[in-house]
Amino acid sequence: MLSSPAAVSAAALGRAAAPKLARLLTYRTVSSRVPEEVETEQFEAFIAALPELFPRVSAALQLERVNGFGLLYRWPGTPGGTASGRGPAVLMAHYDVVPVEDPDRWDYPPFAGTVTETSIEGRGALDDKGALAAVLEAAEQLLAEGFAPAGDIYFSFGNNEETAGDTAAAAAALLAERGIRPWLVLDEGGAVASGAFPFVTVPLAVVGVSEKGILDVELAVDDPGGHASTPNRMGAPAGRARAVVRLDRRPFPASLPDVSVEMVQRLSGSAPLLPRLVLGNAAHLRGALTRVFGLLGGEPNAMTRTTVAVTQLRGSKGSNVLATRATANANIRVAVGETVASTVARLRSIIRDPQVGLRVVEGNEPSPVSATDNAQFALLEETIRTCFPDAVPVPYIMLGGTDARRFTSICDAVYRFAPFRMSAADRASIHADNERLGIETFGEGIAFYKVLMGAL
Ligand SMILES: [Zn+2]
Repeated sequence: MLSSPAAVSAAALGRAAAPKLARLLTYRTVSSRVPEEVETEQFEAFIAALPELFPRVSAALQLERVNGFGLLYRWPGTPGGTASGRGPAVLMAHYDVVPVEDPDRWDYPPFAGTVTETSIEGRGALDDKGALAAVLEAAEQLLAEGFAPAGDIYFSFGNNEETAGDTAAAAAALLAERGIRPWLVLDEGGAVASGAFPFVTVPLAVVGVSEKGILDVELAVDDPGGHASTPNRMGAPAGRARAVVRLDRRPFPASLPDVSVEMVQRLSGSAPLLPRLVLGNAAHLRGALTRVFGLLGGEPNAMTRTTVAVTQLRGSKGSNVLATRATANANIRVAVGETVASTVARLRSIIRDPQVGLRVVEGNEPSPVSATDNAQFALLEETIRTCFPDAVPVPYIMLGGTDARRFTSICDAVYRFAPFRMSAADRASIHADNERLGIETFGEGIAFYKVLMGAL
């Protein structure tokens, strides 16, 4: 049985810690693939602020820097304390953020760290400084209460999740080098989501157990070129265009992975009567559900298949010069059960044009699927039920990517869940305008990490 959150209300917890998160939001720790664009002094200043904001954590935990600006904290466990069978745990977050397109569209300046009556405003509030601050605040409070964990607890905070992600890979490699195999890894990803499905009225605590692979493929068609006044039919741009249209017309085949069937079964208990009859028999109705998800489009559709998005087109450099090479970049999210190789093979069969060359620019396989019938998932479920009694915990496969996938090589129990309530509007603000975290929501997140760490 887990100890329930402190008697202090979530609102009070959030209110007390809000200035700390607000301060962390003032640093422009913006990720970029162009090294010169990264304001390293902002990253330094962010790191320098942590001991001031979380003095007990800084005193009691060992901190080392990984790959420049990555942070790896170790909270040493009690000697012989892992008799519970639970081993070292890694709580992850990242403090780099995506750029702001137009600060004028924001209600509050994105890097001012404004605290309002109800919220903490700014870029990174949800993704993912909010989780980082909640982890540190939870540890700060547990230390103040004299708590010592049974097993080692690590905090791994990345500085380039939004771009390279190699800091997380380096942190995982460092732990592997030391012979550490975490019992549990928890990173961002899912949330306590409301409004995710039209027929579900309760919030769903969606816990990512895997993530799709990410693959960039360049489609290229070559051509002799020449002057634009004497074009030939089916030149490079037309060949490239035909390939793009074929990809658009023939989506990858759909199927509902086992995790999604389990998700639907678990949430069926909370759906109104008619859909419940349908949902409770998800395993039998896999085919019908797959079609329904496909018809719903957007996220449900993306859950059923490998998706292809053509994101960049390039042709001739001059407006009066025929292209000698026309390219398209396809950004592909590889479904669990497929591979980069099988995906490229299918692209070839869909495009069915030997003139179109395919080149893998960068590719990651889908992550292994973490179990939902182990002690780790049970602990997450129990913690969710304790802290979010109205929510139904369900597993899902993440559509986006996180740093967590870098840890699947050293841990079989890697989960992706940030303990914050998020409406559809909140989720839409991630990487967009008006990112904010509710004060009470923040407090609930702190309470969640306290309960979770208290059980480690
Ligand atoms: Zn993130």
